[in-house]
Amino acid sequence: MIPKSHPRYESLLLRDKMVKAAKKGYLADSAMIAHGRGEAFDYLIGERTTYPAKRAMYVAVAALLLSNNPVISVNGNATALAVEEIIELANSVGAKIEINLFYRTDDRVKIITQIYKDLGYDKILGTLDDDIEYLTDIKNNRASASKTGIYSADTVLIPLEDGDRAEILKKSGKNIITIDLNPLSRTSKMSDVSIMDNIVRAIPFMTKIAEDLKTQDKQVLMEIVNDFDNEENLKESLEQIKLKE
Ligand code: ATP
Ligand code: MG
Repeated sequence: MIPKSHPRYESLLLRDKMVKAAKKGYLADSAMIAHGRGEAFDYLIGERTTYPAKRAMYVAVAALLLSNNPVISVNGNATALAVEEIIELANSVGAKIEINLFYRTDDRVKIITQIYKDLGYDKILGTLDDDIEYLTDIKNNRASASKTGIYSADTVLIPLEDGDRAEILKKSGKNIITIDLNPLSRTSKMSDVSIMDNIVRAIPFMTKIAEDLKTQDKQVLMEIVNDFDNEENLKESLEQIKLKE
């Protein structure tokens, strides 16, 4: 038990979730390293949701609401840290959820599938019995996608995604939204909307935004999306990183 008064309480809580997930057997070996890299960036932005991140979240939610087939891609880390919040967001914006693992093994897919089903979410895609298609001519795991999910999606939200996979998704012509604490990652640079925030803060915030934007006209949502410049917003995000006290 971590005492709530501990100065690093939130961060330790997340580490604890990651450790439990690793013990359950659904994280790749590199998952902890990826988490650590995220932690470092979070520390440097003061573990808060910055203004450019909020702006990007409005754009992301507007884009998800405007899409015909939006999909939220989930991996082990995203599931370990924010499974319930992801389901809420998916329901709120009408998106599907698809398991998409960089190091895909049947065991990990099975465990993650069960986690979603145990929470009452039976529609989960990317499972072992789902129809798989490939986003490139080369039929490798990196390019695999559910036929009714990411394969036919117009917008894909990829929290904590690796750059190689992000590139394949981008090249296949999809609108890509990422939640990535590293504004310098290839994923952040390649995406159409990059949210530099911790997934545990971003996803619930996006659900709140969705409740607001859902009542707006399509025209308003389109203006929010069209007025956005991701490159400029990433520059502003980078300026939020403080190396002095
Ligand atoms: P890229 O492949 O895009 O260049 P990378 O190789 O640096 O990125 P990966 O390990 O492939 O990183 O992907 C993990 C990414 O997820 C990292 O950029 C890291 O900052 C980010 N990340 C880790 N934990 C979180 C979190 N809790 N919330 C948001 N982002 C996170
Ligand atoms: Mg990478």
